[in-house]
Amino acid sequence: MNLFAPLTRQQITLKACIRRHLSVGISLLSHSPGPLSQFTDEELMMKETVSKLAKEEIAPLVRKMEKENRIDDGLLRKLFESGLMGIEVPEEYGGSKCSFMSTILAVEEVAKVDGAVAALVDIHNTLVNSLITKVATEEQKTKYLPKLAQDYAGSFCLTEPGSGSDAFSLKTEAKKDGSDYVLNGTKMWISNSDIAGLFLVFANANPSSGYRGITTFLIERDTPGLTVAKPEDKLGIKASGTCMIHLDDVRVPETNILGQLGQGYKYAAGFLNEGRIGIGAQMIGIAQGCLDATIPYTLERKQFGTDIFSFQSMQHQIAQAVTEVECARLAVYNAARLVDAKKNVMKEAAIAKLVASETALRVTSKCIDFMGGVGFTTNFPQEKYFRDSKIGTIYEGTSNMQLSTIAKCIRKDYS
Ligand SMILES: Cc1cc2nc3c(=O)[nH]c(=O)nc-3n(C[C@H](O)[C@H](O)[C@H](O)COP(=O)(O)OP(=O)(O)OC[C@H]3O[C@@H](n4cnc5c(N)ncnc54)[C@H](O)[C@@H]3O)c2cc1C
Repeated sequence: MNLFAPLTRQQITLKACIRRHLSVGISLLSHSPGPLSQFTDEELMMKETVSKLAKEEIAPLVRKMEKENRIDDGLLRKLFESGLMGIEVPEEYGGSKCSFMSTILAVEEVAKVDGAVAALVDIHNTLVNSLITKVATEEQKTKYLPKLAQDYAGSFCLTEPGSGSDAFSLKTEAKKDGSDYVLNGTKMWISNSDIAGLFLVFANANPSSGYRGITTFLIERDTPGLTVAKPEDKLGIKASGTCMIHLDDVRVPETNILGQLGQGYKYAAGFLNEGRIGIGAQMIGIAQGCLDATIPYTLERKQFGTDIFSFQSMQHQIAQAVTEVECARLAVYNAARLVDAKKNVMKEAAIAKLVASETALRVTSKCIDFMGGVGFTTNFPQEKYFRDSKIGTIYEGTSNMQLSTIAKCIRKDYS
């Protein structure tokens, strides 16, 4: 039977189509897809455990950490002890071997309480651990994954002063010298670098081949020649340390090349897709946390003899904000489910990050309006949520770059 033979008018119904496929023994789906926000036991446990940890352990430290521009040492230890720093890492390397969706739920729950800690958890899991788990040699995994899951944070070092959106025009060079490589260059805006023990550094080992020379190196913090500058003073996610890194004749053995020589651009491009879904999770967490802190106030605050939630114009704006966050959440969850299903997510990841970050910015700004004057003060959390949300439209690719990626995919879809 030719599956692709034209259907008669009568056959053009969904049921007929399904029966037709089943009659030739083709299963359309191997499992019921289920609603996007219906969780497995593992995911549910992750969501509830992290929510509790965020409320009990992170919330009391948020303002202190923001003031000090750093993650509290005791909290960092708790993040490791609770398994939050090795969510997808296989158990034999000290991790929990959970799904990508579980990582996304964890980042969202942390971000409801603090966007800065969420940045740490997200980048460490979705970029550093993920890349090592998927492309490292057995020796590298045995050496580094247990440390990353239980002991020290990781940094993903791609951006440079002269190469941001145009990331693959990076200038850091890795010159071969015997069985070593010697790295020279400067990395900029590197998250977690104030506390990181391991740096994934992208450097060009063969500049004459252009971006095809870009290679990823595993470099430990105490390697001579690697220096981390003082953290930048930022608008938001202040406790997440963002520093410049100088590499002056940093010598690493060739066994510290992560994956294949010259494949760094592929790893960066591929893993940043997953990273962007993580940023999407951070953004919906920030937006939801802000709404959760705001809506109860609108039910209590009285003007003109009634609570301000009762005014229809307030209700509509609040309903609009909740709707936008729900739509963004579904885009993020869909992209995460696609990763777990091992599908290509370039377009969906870009859409998720774009929608979630633009939504978070809009919704947190609206929440300040809903609060009136007090929302503009540091006595209430809305201003921090607003400031923390701003980074979403910038890192791991600006909104313009997400639109360019989406457009590239659209052209392909229609060509
Ligand atoms: C807090 C923070 C943390 C970060 N963490 C990390 C990290 O851990 N690791 C890392 O490697 N990097 C990190 N970054 C770097 C981040 O990814 C870059 O800042 C980002 O990619 C933008 O690059 P840029 O700052 O050089 O801006 P530019 O590339 O100079 O862009 C400036 C403006 O020009 C626009 N633009 C540029 N090119 C185009 C184009 N082709 N089409 C349309 N518009 C364009 C941009 O959209 C933007 O509006 C971080 C940055 C910040 C601020």
